[in-house]
Amino acid sequence: MSKTTNKLTSELLGGDRRALAQSITLIESTLATDRAEAEKLLAALMPSTGKSLRLGISGPPGVGKSTFIEAFGLLLIKQGHKVAVLAVDPSSPVSGGSILGDKTRMENLNKDPQSFIRPSPSSGNLGGVARHTRESIFLCEAAGYDFIIVETVGVGQSEIAVAGMTDVFLMLQLPNAGDELQGIKKGILELADLIAITKADGDMKNHAELARDEHRNALHYVRSNPPEIFTCSALHQLGLDEINLAIQKFADTQKKSGSFEKRRHAQSNDWFEAELLQGLQQHLQENAALQKLLKEAKADVSSGKMPASLAAQKVIAKLF
Ligand code: GDP
Repeated sequence: MSKTTNKLTSELLGGDRRALAQSITLIESTLATDRAEAEKLLAALMPSTGKSLRLGISGPPGVGKSTFIEAFGLLLIKQGHKVAVLAVDPSSPVSGGSILGDKTRMENLNKDPQSFIRPSPSSGNLGGVARHTRESIFLCEAAGYDFIIVETVGVGQSEIAVAGMTDVFLMLQLPNAGDELQGIKKGILELADLIAITKADGDMKNHAELARDEHRNALHYVRSNPPEIFTCSALHQLGLDEINLAIQKFADTQKKSGSFEKRRHAQSNDWFEAELLQGLQQHLQENAALQKLLKEAKADVSSGKMPASLAAQKVIAKLF
């Protein structure tokens, strides 16, 4: 480990926000020398990770994610937590436009010394973004953050990625009832541990309550363990305590039954397999001789000269 990384490690373990930000920049770097240091940093920090509650939050644009996270984060801080907010948004262009890209969206939370907010990495594909976010969770934990929120937009693949790195998955839904529920979103069906209908205030309060009841009825039929459903208004700080309690209760129940540990183990396993595949792919891409062989094998398969299985075996044989 270089002297700089060594210093970074001890500053991060001491809870230094700047060191944490620098460490995340290091793990996001595509330079091979940075990556080598990033691996050493992560390895040194692993024993100090794992003690937070990891909460995934998703919902369509405009549902009120950043308003909710700001109000909820401040509530958690009031209770003595240190809160880190990360984001997964593979659709974000490199220059801004990403969720959390504009930190003024959560100005008050961002100003609080007990918080840490980091926009989505802009490395493009979901695999890369998810990898960096997962590693960032560990860095935040090592820096003493005991409540990690991972935000994502409500599009299929990124929701699955976030559910695959968090302990509790909260879905925010707009206060639309009726037609909206005709096709329940796949994500709600499969991923949601808790659901909150947002903007339950003023004119929309009734709509929100109706939407909550409709979700309840619908989910009751299609899920054997329907998630709890709440209404809230982040703008008026209503319903946030209930959601917080439900999150704690969910985590406690999971811990008692062993499901919490099981979920984390499965996530670690998936992470390992993804890294292994990615490493192998990278090795293939970086090796000129293998690239040549790969190209020939692909040509043989597409021209019908060779079955895909045999062509793959030939490449694999050369790998080892
Ligand atoms: P995001 O795109 O999901 O992050 O949504 P935002 O948090 O940016 O909110 C989108 C819009 O909804 C903004 O105009 C917010 O002011 C508004 N909004 C968010 N939460 C509430 C709420 O609890 N009540 C009401 N009435 N409006 C809200």
